[in-house]
Amino acid sequence: STMPAGETGDKGFLSKMKSSKRRLVVFYGSQTGTAEEFAGRLAKEGARYGLKGIVADPEECDMEDLTAIKALEEDLEGPTLAVFMMATYGEGDPTDNAQELFDWLKGGSGDVEGLNFSVFALGNKTYEHFNAMGIFVDKQLEKQGGQRIFKLGLGDDDSNLEDDFITWKEGFWQAVCEKFNIEASAEDFNMRQYEEKVLAEGDYNPEKLYTGEPARLRSYITQRAPFDVKNPYLAPIRVNRNTHSDKSDRYCMHIELDIKDSRIRYDAGDHVAIYPKNNEELVNRLGELMGVDLDTVFTMTNLDEDSTKKHPFPCPTTYRTALTYYVDITALPRTHIMKELAEYCSDTAEKERLLLMSTTSLEGKDLYHNWVVESCRHITHILEDMPSCKPKIDHIMELLPRLQPRFYSISSSSRVHNDSIHVTGVVVEYSTKTGRLNKGVATTWLKPMVPNEGEEYKVPIYVRRSQFRLPNRPQTPIIMIGPGTGLAPFRGFIQERAWQKDQGKPVGETHLYFGCRNKDIDFIYRDELTKFEQDGVIQLHTAFSRDQEQKIYVSHRLRENAQKVWNLIGDQGAHLYVCGDAKMMAKDVHNIITEICEKEGNMSHEEAVAYVKKMEQQKRYSADVWS
Ligand code: FAD
Ligand code: NAP
Repeated sequence: STMPAGETGDKGFLSKMKSSKRRLVVFYGSQTGTAEEFAGRLAKEGARYGLKGIVADPEECDMEDLTAIKALEEDLEGPTLAVFMMATYGEGDPTDNAQELFDWLKGGSGDVEGLNFSVFALGNKTYEHFNAMGIFVDKQLEKQGGQRIFKLGLGDDDSNLEDDFITWKEGFWQAVCEKFNIEASAEDFNMRQYEEKVLAEGDYNPEKLYTGEPARLRSYITQRAPFDVKNPYLAPIRVNRNTHSDKSDRYCMHIELDIKDSRIRYDAGDHVAIYPKNNEELVNRLGELMGVDLDTVFTMTNLDEDSTKKHPFPCPTTYRTALTYYVDITALPRTHIMKELAEYCSDTAEKERLLLMSTTSLEGKDLYHNWVVESCRHITHILEDMPSCKPKIDHIMELLPRLQPRFYSISSSSRVHNDSIHVTGVVVEYSTKTGRLNKGVATTWLKPMVPNEGEEYKVPIYVRRSQFRLPNRPQTPIIMIGPGTGLAPFRGFIQERAWQKDQGKPVGETHLYFGCRNKDIDFIYRDELTKFEQDGVIQLHTAFSRDQEQKIYVSHRLRENAQKVWNLIGDQGAHLYVCGDAKMMAKDVHNIITEICEKEGNMSHEEAVAYVKKMEQQKRYSADVWS
């Protein structure tokens, strides 16, 4: 957006605030929808304090407008307030929709003198740059003249994000009441955000029903480039095979997606997003538990006419389509959902248990943690185990998050595979404490899509650009550390280095540290890697954790080769890459590398820490990790 402040027309949040007489605006930086949901809840709750809010997607705003909020106060006859729900993505980055907000604040030129603000950050402690985006926004707004109304909230998804949010929210409203000298109204108000309308035959045009496409109607029927998050490409699956040996109790897919006719381009290190669908049996079961006809056609409309978001997902559609493509029915419901579910129980004991789970008492938290989180009970399991609970389907669809695309590190190089994108994905399947078998949505859906004669499978995809890149100069040596499926992007890197070599370019040393459980069971791409090693393209360092008594990990191998590793990093300016498990592996590797710098580079511990930090800033140490 390039329009000057205050001139974004009907779409801008300033004019929305003015026309609807709202003094609260809640911005969100959201990747998976949680920050957006929190923003919606906070804005709605404001009604209790005479401060009903507007929710604003920074992507659709002119950031310069932030400087003009304060000036609305005379018109609106009272203090204004801007709240920011900020998720951190990847390696401490802003979410896609908050990139502009980030850049604007980073520029530091905007004057937000006197702007009342408060920030709640959403992050995950297992990642190194915990809540970096929220911390940045909070700090920067103050620096540019803003007035912090309540302390920064630090939500941790590894523990209980909902808890963190509720606790912060209580303190936040208290602070607002004090600062603005207002009182909460006692009356209970309707927390519903959308109104459902069931459509009878004749009330809708069958051509205009959504059938699973994420945004543009019929985008799966008339495919038109360019393809992106709102307009995915239906890519035919050309190859889908198991990369584990038959002896494995797991299954790791190697998939090749055909992008020949799509004009999609990618670089090694990018991610491909796949829009999955929920399991058919699970959808049927849920329909049965809620006693609905899944072929019912309906629409859901925002009760707040001033909201920019008219529908929770593409409408009109059928219950079946919504539950299959749009609603995340296997997410573990957060505590505020337990509270809503309680209202639908005819049995008092069940109702009380659900209500207890939604409280912040120690007993309630424990019960929720055991009964939902530890037992991996999603909505279907909850309804099965609380048989008197009969919620309205539209309410459930409003409360549950949107089904999200799944990301995969592309495991090919476009230099070698211009017409296809390769994916290496391990199938998620695990038993729960209640004796149920839970299955990963995307991987379980993809597993049986093995192309054979007369049968073609297509999946909706788009490519998301990443910062995970080979060095500009092929001579620069690299160290890649990728146990398990963490090997994925490195298969692309290796293909690219081999190609560069074939082109006659001088290619630097290429080290791969790969680890798996057993050499003969889950050593994925073993033949390829061995060949690359024989051809002198890579130097392969393997760690098989379960082939002997003691665990051997990639981190052990790095330590064994400490001198060589330091020689590459310290003397030859090598780039280092880590991919795979964010929880333990990436941290362990980080520690080992710091230790190697300290010992082999003759540094103090502090110097080594600073050295590694500098490597990260210079993009000589990059991570592509997930949990
Ligand atoms: P889901 O239905 O999403 O289920 C997964 C969830 O189930 C987990 O988040 C966890 O909450 C739960 N769960 C899983 N196992 C257990 C257990 N044992 N006990 C209890 N709960 C459990 N994956 C790859 O395989 N290859 C890749 O190259 C790859 N690259 C990625 C790159 C990025 C940037 C990101 C963000 C993720 C990447 N992933 C990759 C992970 C991938 O996106 C999916 O999360 C994964 O395939 C699972 O999706 P699913 O829909 O099958 O499972
Ligand atoms: P994996 O087969 O579970 O592990 C690969 C190798 O890494 C094994 O030899 C393992 O050893 C070893 N390892 C374990 N902890 C380590 C550590 N701290 N440092 C170095 N090596 C370590 O790998 P995967 O199946 O590809 O999955 C990798 C990780 O990605 C998983 O742990 C999981 O957290 C994550 N993942 C998540 C999803 C999801 O659903 N969100 C999907 C796929 C992967 P041992 O097992 O013998 O200890």
